Amino acid sequence: MTNRTELADLLFPEVNVSPGQIEARYPPRALGPGACVTRFAPSPTGLMTIGGLYAAMISERMAHQSGGVFYVRIEDTDKKREVEGSAAELLESLKRFGIAVDEGPVGAGGTEAGSYGPYRQSDRAELYRVWIKRLIAEDLAYPCFCTEDDLQAIRDRQQAAGQATGYYGEWAVHRGMTVEQVRDRLNDGSPFVIRLKSPGSGDNRVRYTDLIKGDIELPENDQDIVLLKADGIPTYHFAHAIDDHLMGTTHVFRGDEWLSSVPIHLQLFELLGFRRPEYGHLATLMKMDGASKRKFSKRKDRDASAQYYRSEGYPSEAVREYFMTLINSDYEEWRLANPTEPLTAFRIRPDKMNVSGALFDMNKLIDVSKDVVARFGAEQVYRQTTEWAEAYDPELFRWLRGNERYAVDIFAIGRTPDKPRKDIAKWSDVKQTIAFFNDDWFDPAADGVPLPSAVSIGTAKRLVRSFLDTYEFADERDVWFDKVKRVAEAHGFAKETKQFKKNPESYAGHVGDVAAVIRAALTGRLQTPDLFDMMRVMGENRVRSRLEAFAG
Ligand code: GLU
Repeated sequence: MTNRTELADLLFPEVNVSPGQIEARYPPRALGPGACVTRFAPSPTGLMTIGGLYAAMISERMAHQSGGVFYVRIEDTDKKREVEGSAAELLESLKRFGIAVDEGPVGAGGTEAGSYGPYRQSDRAELYRVWIKRLIAEDLAYPCFCTEDDLQAIRDRQQAAGQATGYYGEWAVHRGMTVEQVRDRLNDGSPFVIRLKSPGSGDNRVRYTDLIKGDIELPENDQDIVLLKADGIPTYHFAHAIDDHLMGTTHVFRGDEWLSSVPIHLQLFELLGFRRPEYGHLATLMKMDGASKRKFSKRKDRDASAQYYRSEGYPSEAVREYFMTLINSDYEEWRLANPTEPLTAFRIRPDKMNVSGALFDMNKLIDVSKDVVARFGAEQVYRQTTEWAEAYDPELFRWLRGNERYAVDIFAIGRTPDKPRKDIAKWSDVKQTIAFFNDDWFDPAADGVPLPSAVSIGTAKRLVRSFLDTYEFADERDVWFDKVKRVAEAHGFAKETKQFKKNPESYAGHVGDVAAVIRAALTGRLQTPDLFDMMRVMGENRVRSRLEAFAG
């Protein structure tokens, strides 16, 4: 038995399985060639951020477009920063935004799907210790008993000597402790951490090719980083290396704040003898603030959380569609050529992603969302609005529930494939868009009725009165429109817009003005969906009583 094996046994007598025995429980996945295994590995320290959701979607797409697997792993090794309910919210967000997860704690009550778990790091403590023990036996890790004060004293001396601070090289004073020295400290009950014995040097550079950022060169890691904390819990760096290895991760997509940790990760994978995953570091999402771009602030910006987009009622389809335009700039061209394809038919490519600061443009999201909602059927609009309203607008919810047929008919107006209406970007727009259809929300007196500029209120009333005299609910569109034209003519308005344009001074206005007056009398607005369709949906009684009320 070498000294180091003795040390490993002294520190971890209870660990009696080998890495090989553990690895046997995690066989390679049976996947086709080129299949990517990706993961979303959040720390449960708060709400899902919009950047987190974006990264999750990229990982999900990379996996599923290649016939691979996308899983979720909860990285809860930092108990001090953990926020209660955060893990559940993160998982719920993925579901709400339609990011399909194959494995992870995704079942009801946090039950796990998949056979590469457990998928919460706090449930994997024993696994990590197996490799810790192995590293100690191989003289690649060692216990360190330094207190905070000891570490501070080392830093002070390093600063005085003009040297880089940290626990490394000859400054790593507990690197060379003998088994006897360690035994004494253990007998004293002194707390200890396990550190990596880094073979690296700060003078060396390491190179790797990032999937997104291309060739990257960084200083080699020379720090004896902590692998296992005094409470026996691993650090993120160590835990994720073990997990990505056992879970068969092939591609890691994560925020570029992790780029500077890559040298540690490359070194860990090498020392552990694992094949490392490919890394893709995503440009941070930025937002406009006045005229300049800046990062989202988790604390200050409501729109930094995924929850904000849900509460505003952006359909998850729209958020995903917008993400696609951010992921690869040629997506929009593809979408124009393929308006009805599901977004999953587009293959995303990491080498075409933004390498720095991607702008999350709220106005663009709104435009994309209008297009997406325009492709929805009326029933789908009804269903999703109702779902949203149940959580965020009880009054709208009650009305939608009580008037399902009417509401679906309203949403169906102008929902044509050739020139669909685009007046809804998010479910919180719906109430205001359709308010006038509901007698309780329609209040023309309070709002004042807008009229075309050429028409006085007296003329408007007379036009509406004449129209009412001939109005038949059952009229087909042509007959109906002829009647509007006749009313126009009778009051000195041109029957055709063309006529009017030729001789504007000969007319009081044109047929469009007459239609606008009827529209305004019915809805209190000048901009609405198609007038004829609207009147049909409103029903005879409502139309008559509103027109009567207006004509006085
Ligand atoms: N747990 C890390 C985080 O909270 C994950 C980093 C990674 O994906 O490797 O961002």
